Amino acid sequence: MSINKRMAWIEDEHFKGWHCSECSWAISAIRVDTTVAVLAFNRIAQEGFEKHRCAPASEKPKVQAQSASTY
Ligand SMILES: [Zn+2]
Repeated sequence: MSINKRMAWIEDEHFKGWHCSECSWAISAIRVDTTVAVLAFNRIAQEGFEKHRCAPASEKPKVQAQSASTY
């Protein structure tokens, strides 16, 4: 099966780095101040991204708090 996953850049006050468009995979950017560092980081991120397996949301166990039964 092939999932059309892709890396997407995310940057906000809580997280900065790449994440997967299909699952919760993510790699946060450490200090990447120089172009060389950015390229190296992107390559590592790309490799990690290629290796990871997407975990479809539908396969995640649903944790639902059992609410008190009401009769
Ligand atoms: Zn993924």
